[in-house]
Amino acid sequence: MSTLFIDGRWTAAISGATRDITCPADGAYVATVAEADRADTEAAIAAARRAFDEGPWPSTPGPERAALLTRLADLLADEKEQVAELEALDTGKRMVEARIDLDDVISVIRHFATLAGAEAGRVVDPGTPGVSSRVVTEPVGVCALITPWNYPLLQTSWKIAPALAAGNTFVLKPSEVTPSTAIWLMGALDRVGLPAGVANLVLGPGATVGAALTDHPDVDLVSFTGGLETGRRIMAAASDTVKRVALELGGKNPNIIFADADLDAAIDNALTAIFLDSGQVCSAGARLIVEESVKDRVVDELVRRAGDIRLGGPFDDDAETGPLISNQHREKVEKYVADAIAEGAVLRVGGARPDAPELAEGCYYLPTILDDCTTTMRCVQDESFGPVLTVETFGGDTADAAEDAAVAIANDTIYGLAGAVWTENAGRAERVANRLRHGTIWINDYHPYVAGAEWGGMKQSGIGRELGLAGLHEYQEMKHIWHNTRPARAGWFADRSH
Ligand code: NDP
Repeated sequence: MSTLFIDGRWTAAISGATRDITCPADGAYVATVAEADRADTEAAIAAARRAFDEGPWPSTPGPERAALLTRLADLLADEKEQVAELEALDTGKRMVEARIDLDDVISVIRHFATLAGAEAGRVVDPGTPGVSSRVVTEPVGVCALITPWNYPLLQTSWKIAPALAAGNTFVLKPSEVTPSTAIWLMGALDRVGLPAGVANLVLGPGATVGAALTDHPDVDLVSFTGGLETGRRIMAAASDTVKRVALELGGKNPNIIFADADLDAAIDNALTAIFLDSGQVCSAGARLIVEESVKDRVVDELVRRAGDIRLGGPFDDDAETGPLISNQHREKVEKYVADAIAEGAVLRVGGARPDAPELAEGCYYLPTILDDCTTTMRCVQDESFGPVLTVETFGGDTADAAEDAAVAIANDTIYGLAGAVWTENAGRAERVANRLRHGTIWINDYHPYVAGAEWGGMKQSGIGRELGLAGLHEYQEMKHIWHNTRPARAGWFADRSH
C-alpha cells in the first residue's frame, strides 16, 4: 500500500505494515494505508534535510513560493467536492461541515501566499560610517508537523502553508485515523510543482512515528496540535536538541452569559459553541458560565433544544451534528460524564448513546448538559472533547461584583485558548474581554476566525501563534547582517609580529 510520500515518491512502509481506515459514522471500510515506523520516518526526515540543505526551495524567491501556494489553493477549489468526501468519510463529519472546512483551508493557503516573501527584512542604523546593517528572515529548516483528527486538512493547512511560504521543508504526520486528505495534499503539492523532498508524509502511530519526529537531531522545528498530555511529552522530547516548538493544546473554554445579553442569540450560539462537530473542537464552548438571575431560563431552553438535535452521518442531509471519532474516544467521554455525575454534577439531558437503530454502528453520543457544576470539579477543569456542556453560575451584590465573579471563574483554568462574553453593555464587554486570559475572545459571537488574525493559546493551551503574521514568524529565523564596507583593524590587541 504505497501511501507514504518520501522524497517525491509514493512508497509502502518498509515493514509492509498497513492499517484499515473506517468511517466512525457507520464503521464502514474507507481505505487501507501504509503504517510507518521509525525507519520510514527517518527516511522522510533525511529527504527533508537534503531538500533543505541542498535543494532549491529555501532560496526560491517569495513570489514563486506564493504562486505555488496559489496554484495549490486553486487545485483544492477545483477538487473540493472529492476532497470533502475524503474528509467526511475519515472523520464521520457531515459533508456540509467538510465543505466549510475546505473553504477555510483555501482561504488559509491564499492568506499565506500573500505573506510569502512579503517581508523583506529591515534596515537598522548602525551609527557607523561605511557600515550597513540589516535584519533578515530565513526559514527554520526541517519542520515536523503533527496534526489531530478533528479538522485534518484545516489543521494541516495552518502548518504547511506558513512552513512553505517561509521556505522550509517538512515531514507531515497526520492522526493515524484520518490520513486521506493528507494523502491528497501530497499528490496536489507534487502536481503544482513542489520540488521532491520538500513535502514528506508519514502515516503511523504517535508513539513511534511522532516520537521519532520529535527527538530526531535533523528536525529543527516541531509544530503540534492535539492533547495537553501529548504536548507535554513532545516539549520534553524536543528539548534535547533544542528544537523550535509550537503547540496548540486545546482548551476548556468559558462562554459567559450576562443577564443583559440578547438571550435568544446567546442560547442559539451556546448550542453551536459546544455541539458543533459533537464538541470535538479545541475552542468548543464547553463551560457555560451564566448569571444567576437568568440561569433557569437559559439552561432550560438549552436542555430543550439539545434534546432535539439530530445526529447523523456525512450524507444525512437532516443531521445537525455527527459521531465521535472512535469508540475509544466515546468511552473516554462516557467515563468523563460518569465521573462528573459521581462528583455532584446533575445530568439534565443526554449522557448516553442514542438508541436509534440507524445510528447503532456509529460512534454517536447524545448532546449532554451537566448542571450545578462548580469550578473545583474535574468535569469543569478537564477537556471532554465531546458533546458535553457544564453549567456554572455567577452573581454579585453589584454589577461590578458580578463582573469580577464571572472573570474569576472563567480564568480559573490551566487552559487559555478561547472564550466568549455575551452582554448588551459595550463597556462591560470590552472590560471582560480585556481581563480574560484566553487567546481568542468573541463578544456576542462564538467560533468565527479569520485567516489574518493570530490563533493560539495562553497558559497551558500552547506555545506560539498560528494563522496571522505571527504564523509565518513561527517558521522563520531572524538574522542580523552587519556589512562593513571599509574593513579596518580592530585595534583591541597589540600586533607584536613586527
Ligand atoms: P493526541 O494528542 O494523542 O494526538 C494528536 C497527534 O499527535 C496525532 O497525530 C497523534 O498520533 C500524535 N501523537 C500522539 N502521541 C505522540 C507522541 N508521543 N509524539 C508525537 N506525536 C504524538 O490526541 P488524541 O487524538 O489522542 O486525542 C486526545 C485528546 O487530545 C482529545 O481527547 C482532546 O482532548 C485533545 N485534542 C485536541 C485537539 C486540539 O485541536 N487542540 C485536537 C484533537 C484532540 P496518533 O493519534 O496517530 O497516534
